[in-house]
Amino acid sequence: KAGIWAEVKAALGDIPHADDAATLKLKSRDFFWFSPILKPQLEHCRADLVVAPRNRDEVIRAASVAARLRVPITVRAGGTGNYGQAVPLEGGMLLDVSALDRTLWVKPGAGRFEAGARLLDMDRGLFAEGQEVRLYPSTRKQATIGGLIAGGAGGAGSCTWGQISDPGAVLALQVVTVEESPRIVELRGPDVLKVLHAYGVNGVITETEIPLAPRHDWAERIVAFPDLAAAARFGQAFTEADGIAKRLVSIHEPRIPAAIKRLKPYAPDGAAIAILMVSEPQAEACEAIAAAHGGTVTFRRTAEAARAAAFDGHGAIAPLYEYTWNHTTLHMLKVDPTITYLQLRFPPGRNLDLVAWVGERFRDEIWLHLEFQRRFGRVTNSALPIVKFTSPERLYAIVDELNANEVAVSDPHSYALDDAGWKRVDSGAAQFKSLADPHGLMNPGKLRAWPPAEAAE
Ligand code: FAD
Repeated sequence: KAGIWAEVKAALGDIPHADDAATLKLKSRDFFWFSPILKPQLEHCRADLVVAPRNRDEVIRAASVAARLRVPITVRAGGTGNYGQAVPLEGGMLLDVSALDRTLWVKPGAGRFEAGARLLDMDRGLFAEGQEVRLYPSTRKQATIGGLIAGGAGGAGSCTWGQISDPGAVLALQVVTVEESPRIVELRGPDVLKVLHAYGVNGVITETEIPLAPRHDWAERIVAFPDLAAAARFGQAFTEADGIAKRLVSIHEPRIPAAIKRLKPYAPDGAAIAILMVSEPQAEACEAIAAAHGGTVTFRRTAEAARAAAFDGHGAIAPLYEYTWNHTTLHMLKVDPTITYLQLRFPPGRNLDLVAWVGERFRDEIWLHLEFQRRFGRVTNSALPIVKFTSPERLYAIVDELNANEVAVSDPHSYALDDAGWKRVDSGAAQFKSLADPHGLMNPGKLRAWPPAEAAE
């Protein structure tokens, strides 16, 4: 084994690489430790070598070395994934693409970026152009556009633009294959689904072309409500208010702000809260809807101050999106390391009734926060609830009951791509893997059975 790595290093030549224990440990991890089930399964996994190409040519050379010497290759970018997506289960080469971070071009309504570009840096650059990225995860600071496309779902902006898998959310992707002589493949339109949310098992994304939106001045508000039901009704009504430009509608039941020190002052008397980003000139209209639903504004930050918090880290409180989506879990884990979380999707039309049912049925085990989003012309909410963890058996009993009652659970306690939509839709992802990764070297172990039985016979 040692021999092969000496050969790999010699073949890589001047492409930056490292194999000291500290780097291998640091780069072999992501945020899988949010899950008490994944933690013991993944914490011992280590890459044998971290390779950090500086440009596409070096990606091609590294991919060729992996193919020629038949070593596993796992792509990593910001390393903020939640399910061990970038953890090298079988060791091998860890391809850190975060240095591929250039903006290639920008025009009104679209831009092309290298895959390792960080979402916050992209918006910093787009600011002067009067444009912005349409949606970003709450990990905007560290997460990359390639990582969002290969492993993420949605975030701030989803209340207006839906999710990263929706038609038109990704315009084109450039992918490098892992073969002795790697090819550069351009996927456009619906073809992007072949590699979207595929955890990097079927090609290294090197360039991404995405739609952009005209930039707004996003002001921040926190609004307190007497209870979760009132806050949720407001969340629905505000997200449905098509005339108001908005970026974030996140609703938290009272126990969450009561536990998070930074939020507590804005949730007086055990209030539920709405965490909002709204176009500054329309903040007044937003506040009127909140008041009509019994809300009281407890926090106001101008767009300029909110931008300084996001771009420069200024201000007493972090950008508000860093308290929402899966950041809520991060803050709650600091308070109580024994909790965990789930990922729930509520069907449009029935979402508020089902939110009430979940809150009532699992009162002692689930703390809800709702992320409102607009998808396919309808408004609904997802949720990443805080869950009291007692045992895997109890966790999966809760999952089964939710699934049986129209609340669809995406399991965040599994690293298997099969559990996250692989081949669920006819995306051509599996066929593309045969082409882009003929030796089955990419992120091995994430697919339960590869090659598929029929191909192996
Ligand atoms: P990584 O973690 O480095 O990689 C993710 C996956 O993509 C891996 O399988 C990796 O192999 C693959 N990959 C990365 N780059 C490439 C590439 N160039 N080519 C091929 N494959 C590639 N997610 C959301 O969707 N919304 C949220 O609001 C959100 N909030 C979060 C909050 C917290 C506190 C945490 C810890 C995570 C959160 N996430 C969220 C998950 C994660 O931050 C996002 O999905 C993020 O976009 C991942 O980007 P990354 O650059 O860190 O990817």
